[in-house]
Amino acid sequence: MDSQKNITLIGAGLVGSLLSQYLAKRGHKVSIFEKRSDMRKAGYVGGRSINLALSHRGFNGLRAMGLEEEIRKVGIPMYGRVIHQINGDVQYQAYGKEDEAIYSVSRGGLNKRLMELADENPNISIQFDERCFDVDVQNAICHFENMQTKEHTTVKSDVVLSADGAFSAARLALQTKTDRFEYSQHYLDQGYKELTIPAGPNGEFLLEKNALHIWPRNQYMLIALPNLDGSFTCTLFFPFEGNPSFTSLQTEAQVREFLTREFPNVVALSPEVVSEYMANPNGSLVTVKCFPWVHKDKLGLMGDASHAIVPFFGQGMNAGFEDCFEFGNLMDKHGDNWEALLAEFQDIRKINADAIADMAVENFIEMRDKVADQKFLLRKKIEAKLNKHFPENYVSKYSLVSFSTKPYRYALEMGFRQDALFEKVLAIQGIENNWDSDETFAKLEVLLKEFQFLN
Ligand SMILES: Cc1cc2nc3c(=O)[nH]c(=O)nc-3n(C[C@H](O)[C@H](O)[C@H](O)COP(=O)(O)OP(=O)(O)OC[C@H]3O[C@@H](n4cnc5c(N)ncnc54)[C@H](O)[C@@H]3O)c2cc1C
Repeated sequence: MDSQKNITLIGAGLVGSLLSQYLAKRGHKVSIFEKRSDMRKAGYVGGRSINLALSHRGFNGLRAMGLEEEIRKVGIPMYGRVIHQINGDVQYQAYGKEDEAIYSVSRGGLNKRLMELADENPNISIQFDERCFDVDVQNAICHFENMQTKEHTTVKSDVVLSADGAFSAARLALQTKTDRFEYSQHYLDQGYKELTIPAGPNGEFLLEKNALHIWPRNQYMLIALPNLDGSFTCTLFFPFEGNPSFTSLQTEAQVREFLTREFPNVVALSPEVVSEYMANPNGSLVTVKCFPWVHKDKLGLMGDASHAIVPFFGQGMNAGFEDCFEFGNLMDKHGDNWEALLAEFQDIRKINADAIADMAVENFIEMRDKVADQKFLLRKKIEAKLNKHFPENYVSKYSLVSFSTKPYRYALEMGFRQDALFEKVLAIQGIENNWDSDETFAKLEVLLKEFQFLN
């Protein structure tokens, strides 16, 4: 069948490995080239978060390949946030409705499973230790260097799909070899460092298992996600410069003093936390936006290669899995017309990738500063009530992003309208003590109509 393509896929990360399934299922022959060694043999070499939050869009992408249930079983549902205040107070905020959860999954475990599936499929091959260092975008020719032997190989195919992450080689080729390529790369002033809260002596969880834990401290914060072995992987989001910062904390004594003051329960649960802090690297947080993502019928960028975002909405991988899902639909729609397929893919995804990129940066401020704020907590309670009474008409921005497949752009726009609504709601006299009353409910209904959430 001449609609079958020979496809070179760069990168066997989360998105590349899943995408290969979508392509092979439609009969295409996929050759994946991955610069790292096979993590199933060499072990998973971190560098990025050990676990990730997988939510509705990610599951949707896995479901189409029959993988949803299997991955759900090895994930830990997190039904809400547990906020750890500096004075030791702890609050719980549900993320959505009772049964709605985001799932903590192992990055390495998920990636390995996706690679195993690729191995089982005769239409997919993976070559490891092959780093793409150049792409001829006009002719779909890729150049690879073997990381062990340093040998160079040139591969020509019908189409190149590039899921090689935030520092994509194919994107660089588009940038340097085509005219009017738009590109922006923005780093946050904060970076991150991973720390661990180990399991208890009998493998038990030392904090609430089914929650994402947050220690918000304004200019910085710590979060923790549960792992299957009873431990939690914590991520400290912290300024690179200033006081306190990665730069200002230099000695073990300074680190111990800082962590004990700011996160006392973490230090109490984690005897190795100071040495871990000293040993673990600092990661940086980048947003990448670019355009175009595609070149004629020859090249397309996917996942972080076209839209790397900061992790504060837990959506980077989810957005990448949604790319795969949409790409699958468009393959069915356009058949052999890859120019139309790639063009429509870019059309529908770029606007949504930009939206989640902006929401992710904004959510950093929400997590760091607002989750502990009384007005924010009140808003969450009122939003839950509105959602319960008007499930079709009022769905919070967080739920639209995490528990629906409504376009990210729609969630962003709804978020603006919801903010405007809540400016007025929170200005209602005495709302703090009266928010659950019938009288307030009547006022809320009027405002919902004014802001066109209700007819
Ligand atoms: C601290 C942190 C926490 C995060 N938490 C979440 C979360 O909770 N939920 C969520 O959805 N997302 C999260 N993300 C985002 C998520 O990690 C990324 O969006 C996701 O990994 C993107 O997948 P990808 O396959 O596009 O890119 P990557 O995962 O970067 O994979 C790219 C692959 O390409 C390979 N490669 C790179 N260059 C080349 C080359 N030149 N030649 C050949 N191969 C190459 C790499 O080795 C890698 O295997 C987080 C990110 C960070 C940094």
